[in-house]
Amino acid sequence: MVLSRTIGSDSDASLHSTFASRYVRTSLPRFKMPDDSIPKEAAFQIINDELMLDGNPRLNLASFVTTWMEPECDKLIMAAINKNYVDMDEYPVTTELQNRCVNMIANLFNAPLGDTETAVGVGTVGSSEAIMLAGLAFKRKWQNKMKALGKPYDKPNIVTGANVQVCWEKFARYFEVELKEVKLSEGYYVMDPEKAVEMVDENTICVAAILGSTLNGEFEDVKRLNDLLVEKNAQTGWDTPIHVDAASGGFIAPFIYPELEWDFRLPLVKSINVSGHKYGLVYAGIGWVIWRSKEDLPDELIFHINYLGADQPTFTLNFSKGSSQIIAQYYQLIRLGFEGYKNIMENCQENAIVLKEGLEKTGRFNIVSKDNGVPLVAFSLKDHSQHNEFEISDMLRRFGWIVPAYTMPPDAQHITVLRVVIREDFSRTLAERLVIDIVKVLEELDTMPAKVTAKNEISEEKGIVNKTELEVQRKFSDAWRKFVANKKKTNGVC
Ligand SMILES: *Cc1c(COP(=O)(O)O)cnc(C)c1O
Repeated sequence: MVLSRTIGSDSDASLHSTFASRYVRTSLPRFKMPDDSIPKEAAFQIINDELMLDGNPRLNLASFVTTWMEPECDKLIMAAINKNYVDMDEYPVTTELQNRCVNMIANLFNAPLGDTETAVGVGTVGSSEAIMLAGLAFKRKWQNKMKALGKPYDKPNIVTGANVQVCWEKFARYFEVELKEVKLSEGYYVMDPEKAVEMVDENTICVAAILGSTLNGEFEDVKRLNDLLVEKNAQTGWDTPIHVDAASGGFIAPFIYPELEWDFRLPLVKSINVSGHKYGLVYAGIGWVIWRSKEDLPDELIFHINYLGADQPTFTLNFSKGSSQIIAQYYQLIRLGFEGYKNIMENCQENAIVLKEGLEKTGRFNIVSKDNGVPLVAFSLKDHSQHNEFEISDMLRRFGWIVPAYTMPPDAQHITVLRVVIREDFSRTLAERLVIDIVKVLEELDTMPAKVTAKNEISEEKGIVNKTELEVQRKFSDAWRKFVANKKKTNGVC
């Protein structure tokens, strides 16, 4: 199934390559497998040429996902590119490396492990798979409990902030759990623990808190949530647990906020996910989910496969996958150690501050991200009367920068922000350069007429002559907001 629509006209049904004409003269059909083979050089050239038009990953400031690793690690990745992770019997060392990673991360998150106990967790493709697995464990545990009590178990729900990443909506829809979202309000862009706990009922399988809201990087107050929920559980006799979605913050908080209690130090936190490919500093394709203890992962969800003679417990959604990312994660953990991760995270935070201060100096932006949280800078224009953030985003593209603009979730959706994620490879020089380019864009926008009319707006407004420009502007941004809100579920900020 192809869900993506290809760009370009439908009549453009074939591909050409200038250089490949050295090897082939005929064009290739676009959507049908060609009848004949072509030389390997031609195939390489055609694909390589076309890919030049993709953005440069290092300038992609939209994403948390790692775009640079050391050449030594690239070597290890390429050497393992032909290893299927699921062949655990054949590649026992790879399996052992995954287990070491799980234990290292569980210890980093303060899992209450005895000296001889090993951690419970798995490597996944990313936080999304990790969240599906964690959600399934909560759902099954809750169902088992309700069954034992002789109560209905067909209406599970999960409580989150409206700022959750799209994968929670996916979990809810795919696995038939109602998502109860705590609404956001202006100036407060994360889940309010009080409101969340009010929404908890007997059918709540867990409350999911986010360590590092995707929108503005802010950490949710997991400790407060834990304390309020402990109280509510004591009053009601329920035992509603907490999951922490630490996709981006899981590799930040332990290093720069060691005192912050957000992890297994809090008794109701039963599972945590983290993306190895975000601040775990590995290329796309690795995430982790860790459970507090064996009791928090119902045994019936674990498959015991007898793979070529060995019993191998597994809990994943897919079967085959590459091994490289696991090896790369292990590389980073031992290569950097606590000290290395700490240095990198501190450096990211300092670069975020350089960028933030540069933007503040222009006097044109409100900063909506916090200094403590995931190192990113989210900012919006103070004055929307002439131009908006989407225009800035578009114009920055010309300098090569990829900076997304998007609206906040319901109840705060009249706020549009630009967001720059600071990764390890975003240097101070780049931060300063970006500020210079943003200033250039602002100066250029100042000389351009305001972009106020959309086609349908003109026809709708026909006959009304005395509408002020501001009113039209407002109507237009309302329409735009609605349009974006309807698209919210698919905008896939990652
Ligand atoms: C990125 C992100 C996810 C999804 O993670 P993937 O690793 O991309 O699957 C989920 N939740 C939060 C808070 C995120 O930032």
